[in-house]
Amino acid sequence: MSPDSTRDPEDLSLERAATLTAGASWWRTAAIPEAGIPALVMSDGPHGIRFQPQDDEADHLGLHDSVPATCFPPAVALGCTWNPELAARVGTALAAEAVQHGIGVVLGPGINIKRAPQGGRNFEYFSEDPFLTGELGAGWVQGLQSAGVGASLKHFAVNSQETRRMTMDARVDERTLREIYLRAFEKVVRRSRPWTVMCSYNRVNGEWASQSRELLTRILREEWGFDGAVISDWGAVVDRPRALAAGLDLEMPPAPHHTDAVLEAVRDGSLEEAVVRRAAARIARLARRAGRTDRAVPVDVDAAHALAREVAEQAIVLLRNDAHGDAPLLPLIPGQRIAVIGELARTPRYQGSGSSRVVPTRVDIPLDALRGHLGDAMAFAPGYPLAEVRGRYAVDAATTADESGQAQLRADAVAAAASADVVVLFLGLPAQAESEGYDRADIELPADQLALLQAVQAANDRIVVVLSHGGVVRIGSWAERIPALLDATLLGQAGGAAIADALVGTVNPSGRLAETVPLRLEDTPAFGSFGGGADEVVYGEGVFVGYRWYDARRLPVAFPFGHGLSYTTFAYADLDAAVDEDGITVSFTLRNTGAVGGREVAQVYLALPGPGQQPVRELKGFVSVRLEAGESRRVTVRIPRDELASWSVSAHAWQVRSGECGVEVGASSRDLRLKSVVSVRADAVDPLPTIDSTIGDWLVDERTGPRMREVIGQLAQAAGGAVPAPESPGWAMFADLRLAQITQLRPDLVSIERVRGIAAAVLAAAQATSTTASALGR
Ligand code: BGC
Repeated sequence: MSPDSTRDPEDLSLERAATLTAGASWWRTAAIPEAGIPALVMSDGPHGIRFQPQDDEADHLGLHDSVPATCFPPAVALGCTWNPELAARVGTALAAEAVQHGIGVVLGPGINIKRAPQGGRNFEYFSEDPFLTGELGAGWVQGLQSAGVGASLKHFAVNSQETRRMTMDARVDERTLREIYLRAFEKVVRRSRPWTVMCSYNRVNGEWASQSRELLTRILREEWGFDGAVISDWGAVVDRPRALAAGLDLEMPPAPHHTDAVLEAVRDGSLEEAVVRRAAARIARLARRAGRTDRAVPVDVDAAHALAREVAEQAIVLLRNDAHGDAPLLPLIPGQRIAVIGELARTPRYQGSGSSRVVPTRVDIPLDALRGHLGDAMAFAPGYPLAEVRGRYAVDAATTADESGQAQLRADAVAAAASADVVVLFLGLPAQAESEGYDRADIELPADQLALLQAVQAANDRIVVVLSHGGVVRIGSWAERIPALLDATLLGQAGGAAIADALVGTVNPSGRLAETVPLRLEDTPAFGSFGGGADEVVYGEGVFVGYRWYDARRLPVAFPFGHGLSYTTFAYADLDAAVDEDGITVSFTLRNTGAVGGREVAQVYLALPGPGQQPVRELKGFVSVRLEAGESRRVTVRIPRDELASWSVSAHAWQVRSGECGVEVGASSRDLRLKSVVSVRADAVDPLPTIDSTIGDWLVDERTGPRMREVIGQLAQAAGGAVPAPESPGWAMFADLRLAQITQLRPDLVSIERVRGIAAAVLAAAQATSTTASALGR
């Protein structure tokens, strides 16, 4: 019997096993029918299924089209819903469409952190914040996989820019890596157990992500317990033998010379055969798991479109709605004459370019949807041209006007504005401005649109601006005199209807910014370092990404993280925050104090105690609550204890630190309505200090602090000025000495033996206290 005829990949010939470690074609793995191993079919993702049945028309850059599928709102919009349950429903709906085509793994979600607003792929990511990203990512994966289709969590790791993404080395310190760039991955892996993780193209601290043992094995598998398969981003493998040894299982798409290299490496002893077999076994398991899906789920295209619309409705962020004259301009009032201006109202942008580009089943046009609401009371002028987009690329076609054409477009728009009660002006980034594969150089709206805005403003200042964009755009001086601003990011194929509903008020906006809108690019955390040099980019701002940066520096921003208004108002009252062994429970009462029903996203931020510089506040919980006018509800947000931990570089572990922890609850990171402070105790398992820990560390540790304080006090008395008393002048410098160094100050008074004796006595007392405490059940 030939080895290949058995069912177990362990019994396959090495050659056959090696073929499983790379795709057989662009989107498929090799099938080995005689071993009962089916081919696994993969497809992008993540906001719609990008199924390309023909191999000769397959690509990973959005060049060729794919089979029509529901284009759900991309992650930038899903992020603004702050609604993990909705993300889960999107995942489940995607699974149904995937199953229809025999797809076993959908390549998403993308959960990289938005480090800088210029990121070309920011529309594919949820947020600048790891907590929000992790919650949404976990929901999405859980929803998809509950329907029998696997996720591919990507891009692992530190792939927060497109510039030179194939070669760039992201230099990031250990704490930042853990607290910001890996944290959402950790949460999703632990909570939702994705079937696969996709490694990124770039290098991380000198090593290719595709061949980093630290990332792919030590952290992912050994620490987080990942038990799925690691697949490469398309073309990310540099050296497959090394990648396999590091923990990669599948190279996509196939590079046959890499398979030869694997066999050669086994032959020459530089790669263990068992490593190849292990990867092959994981791929075989994955393919069989995917093959188990019941393929008969019917897809309801209308229901999927309705879900896309529901997500879009919850994603729209009402940034501003100031009173203009007697009342705010939004919602629009029936009977008003409305001028809709802007080509984006007629030719909406609803997704980004690159591998995630989906061919939609239909597209709701904002202009048509508005006409449905407003009828004859509405006029339209395009105002500016947009280049026509074919596939991924914008081509200068008939729609691109020359100078006189532009002047005419502007003049028509001004005329329409002059005779309207309210102007609804659609502005935004054109398709070619942002995409996978490159970053933006600035965050400005196109100059011709800003010129149009100025011209329109001169004719009529009752303007509502609707913004379409994937990455953040500067909402600067041009917006100062705009009374109403609606942020519509990229809303998927049903976004047009959702925008119209929000404008007329049949939908009450409830989205929240998942990233800060800065006043200037120069204010942003990675300004000056984003993009990097030829080979490396240094993440020098550390953990101070997004609002953590603006808050630490007390910088004003255009709109803060978490911000979003409503046509109603909400009051917050009666905060109760209580700590127990497993975390913090935060309760408060929310009341809808306005005249219409609405959804509030109440946010809980913590100021964690820590030894070094800590962020001023960090999002650690949120809750989405629908309340009718006048209704109130007591809500509770539970913050598990692991959210209280920060990364200890010395212990290479998460640690909860003792101390006061600020609790803030509010409607955004800068609209905090309720505050409290709780006392958090460090993990009992924290290592106790040693004679090589600083004197300060001995005092801060609640187990050793009180006793050591007494001892130091006594020494200070005996030593005169040579040993300062706690908190006396000179104390700070003294507190940074290692305990053993006391002996150098007054060798006559404190020998090293004496220091050892003091340390041992204090530790013995500490251990005795903790034993008594645990015996008493504390
Ligand atoms: C992207 C991935 C994508 C893959 C397959 C790559 O260019 O970075 O996100 O899943 O192509 O299309």
